[in-house]
Amino acid sequence: MEIIIAENSGLCYGVKRALNIARRTRREVTGPVSTLGDLIHNPRVVADLRARGISSAAAARDIEGGTVIIRSHGVSPATTKALARKGLEIVDATCPIVKEIQKLVESLARKNMEVIIVGDRDHPEIRGLIGHSHSRGIIVENEAQARELPRRKTRAVVAQSTLDVELFERVVAALVGRTGELSVHDTICRSTRTRQTSTSELASRVDTLFIVGGRASSNTRKLYRISKRILPRTFFIETADEITPGMLRGARTIGISGGASTPPEALQEATARIKTSFEHKIQREKSVP
Ligand code: SF4
Repeated sequence: MEIIIAENSGLCYGVKRALNIARRTRREVTGPVSTLGDLIHNPRVVADLRARGISSAAAARDIEGGTVIIRSHGVSPATTKALARKGLEIVDATCPIVKEIQKLVESLARKNMEVIIVGDRDHPEIRGLIGHSHSRGIIVENEAQARELPRRKTRAVVAQSTLDVELFERVVAALVGRTGELSVHDTICRSTRTRQTSTSELASRVDTLFIVGGRASSNTRKLYRISKRILPRTFFIETADEITPGMLRGARTIGISGGASTPPEALQEATARIKTSFEHKIQREKSVP
């Protein structure tokens, strides 16, 4: 039995940075510290932050006072104003890559361009981006919605930083048919790309693959869908406890991957759980790029 861990898996730069900012803020300030929404889509890490005195508030109205941390997904200008109006101390942990996408959307909107934002309309990054579009943005979630748009002479298209690369290509192809001059801005971040490539390559060479991560994590769900397209024996697990003997039956080469919000311990625990189940067999473990 062989366990292969995708090297490009687990916490991305933007999420690690936001976690470091949150922990540093907690050390440096007195008074309550909260995050606007869960800092990371991972229940274990959110519980750890709570234990350290960093609470999570669903909305600005739920924050009584003190310091609020804006997570890596960023927020709309209206939300920043609402937080400032409440007199809160704002610590901005928006991922610099998301900041760049926000600036791009703003500059396209200033040029009076219709901006198609491809992504999940309920995702906080998309809610933030639409706020930066000053009513020039339209959210499109798939190619069917793109095909329903009216024809226009010009428009621009950007992507959620964690979008499925293939989905973006399909939406752009649909928009080409509806637009005279389409300005394409592929804003899918490098971390997302390497995780998607690593996972799909791994899915092609193992017989069973575990995607580890929070169920609320949109990028982890995308990794699951990408792997499942290639390998039907792909399982989405939040914690190692969810691995059952049935999932491992007949498995000879097992892959493990995780999304941008999956902490390294979750990947290690999944590996340990699989090893325990196979302790009577020869084990090898390695990482692949
Ligand atoms: S996925 Fe990319 S853009 Fe999003 S937080 Fe991580 S590094 Fe930043």
